[in-house]
Amino acid sequence: MNTLHLFLSHVNHNFEIIRKQLRSSTECIGVVKANAYGSHAIHFAKRLVELGINKLAVAYAEEGIQLREQGIKTPIMVFYPQRNSIAGVIGANLEPCIYSRELMNSFKLYLEAMAIKDYPIHIKYNTGLNRVGFPVIDVAWVLEKTDNPQFRLESVYSHLAISEEERPSAKCMLQIERFEEIKKIHIESVQTAPKFHLLNSSGVFNYPEYQYDAVRCGIAFHGYANKSEWDALLKPVAVLKSKISQIHQLKKGAFVGYDNGWITPDAVTIATLPLGHADGIGRHFGHHQSTVNINGQNASIVGNVCMDMLMIDITGIDCETGDEVTFFDTSKSAEDFARSGNTISYELLAGIGPRIKRLLHH
Ligand SMILES: *Cc1c(COP(=O)(O)O)cnc(C)c1O
Repeated sequence: MNTLHLFLSHVNHNFEIIRKQLRSSTECIGVVKANAYGSHAIHFAKRLVELGINKLAVAYAEEGIQLREQGIKTPIMVFYPQRNSIAGVIGANLEPCIYSRELMNSFKLYLEAMAIKDYPIHIKYNTGLNRVGFPVIDVAWVLEKTDNPQFRLESVYSHLAISEEERPSAKCMLQIERFEEIKKIHIESVQTAPKFHLLNSSGVFNYPEYQYDAVRCGIAFHGYANKSEWDALLKPVAVLKSKISQIHQLKKGAFVGYDNGWITPDAVTIATLPLGHADGIGRHFGHHQSTVNINGQNASIVGNVCMDMLMIDITGIDCETGDEVTFFDTSKSAEDFARSGNTISYELLAGIGPRIKRLLHH
């Protein structure tokens, strides 16, 4: 019915392209949060491990616990642990990224209570994204707290808000300067310096000179890097296909879908597809914003996208029930499709729902 094809050999290609931007000593952290951007977390993570990824990263503890349960032994960072997930993080031998005083204190108390020493942690600073992270003025507090037998400070990092912006970017440079300052104070204050990292996928292409000791890539493994010239170097991994469920011939002035979302301007032929907003194709793709491809021709998504279905205008297109329909593939990428609905590849990919079958191509 609907299939998200995942071409894992393209992950190999994308890994190679990312590695080419990096020094051989720079580590690569593979970000597999949100079911590896809506693909298939365990298969995606396994492929990255086979390719030699240095660490994996997830957003929340539960995602890391699931990877451990499926046999992943590689170090896993948890970017956004919550205070109530500390036991889960430590129980699954995950590496927390600590971003606030409350979280630091809670972790420290837990480790003391359990008499655990030398536990690997990461520190996240807020240099301008203003989402999570210690403010720059907290460096001294962080240094004092991490100078403790409970912790082993593995790395110190921050995250750019607009790493793809055309250079020179004053916003990026301000964040980079703040990060440089943080790095300097950390290095001056300890004997063994932790690793430092700042770049996500587009950062790797835009600021290779600030790769420091590691980079954190997610979307680039899927074939996207927020700029067409970098996208051109990469290969999209995911291809979304569906099949026509039913075809209707309609007269001029017919109503299509909920809320009479489309009133046909002429006699038209429409087809119904068995996926909708519950599957990640949101209402913003309806009303002629976006097209899908059938037998080499484009058909607009018409009216309001329903929860389980959507309708397309196939007037003049040679097709029948059961024919394959492509939402995005390697030629019309998920980025192009996402943009037609006013969103980005990240949201589209991560939102592909669990009802859509994942078919792996090794
Ligand atoms: C999601 C995430 C990344 C990966 O970003 P991409 O743009 O997908 O490469 C890196 N770092 C942090 C902190 C993240 O949350």
